[in-house]
Amino acid sequence: MATPLRVTVWNEFVHERTNDVVKALYPQGIHAAVAEGLREQLGDAVQIRTATLEEPEHGLTKEVLRNTDVLLWWGHAAHDQVSNKIVKRVQKRVWQGMGLVAMHSAHASKIFRRLMGTSCMLRWREAGERERLWIVAPGHPITAGLTGEYFELEHTEMYGEFFDIPAPDELIFVSWFEGGEVFRSGCTWRRGAGKIFYFRPGHETYPIYYNPQVRRVLANAVQWAAAAGSPYIGEGRNIPEPLNPIANPLQAHEDLHR
Ligand code: ZN
Repeated sequence: MATPLRVTVWNEFVHERTNDVVKALYPQGIHAAVAEGLREQLGDAVQIRTATLEEPEHGLTKEVLRNTDVLLWWGHAAHDQVSNKIVKRVQKRVWQGMGLVAMHSAHASKIFRRLMGTSCMLRWREAGERERLWIVAPGHPITAGLTGEYFELEHTEMYGEFFDIPAPDELIFVSWFEGGEVFRSGCTWRRGAGKIFYFRPGHETYPIYYNPQVRRVLANAVQWAAAAGSPYIGEGRNIPEPLNPIANPLQAHEDLHR
């Protein structure tokens, strides 16, 4: 049997304990519902742990990150409470090849904005309107198992363009909303050796993370985002000794590149 993918689902875990509507929908927390969906879809192919804001080091110790192939991130109310030290640590692991799946309001998380380098802000409206997610990259592994040209969520929070992100490497889903807006709902990027997927669905007051298509997409994304390829050496370094002799080396100025 192949080694299971090591997945960490991170959640700030705030609304579920402070808001009765959210508590009723996600009694164990959004992280638990997302983890359950991944287990349901991927079974023994994944080994899942969860981590939350209030744990020491937000549950993202060096040890945990070293042993994480893909990290899923959900946050909304407490982005600012995430320590910069941990954010840097996560960024470094992404460069080294750890996959990152940013869900819904994680667009405004420190880690996502840091990796993107833009504000990642957008328009929104909470009216419980219909969303239709069009598949614009059929054949991409993240769309595996979806049937038809789109899928729909009956009641969602609207996110609309302009979404201030760098142009995605791949656009997987484009959402249409009942109220008229459109949004780039599924986007991929690479940073260092790491793969990043942003997936829009998932407001805390709707049962989005129980939806079978949403669960399918998240499971596909986890498999897609896992590290692949050769080792990553991201540190800059001086190579004073050439691999082969240089016939007529120019005299380097002593003070250059100090
Ligand atoms: Zn939301």
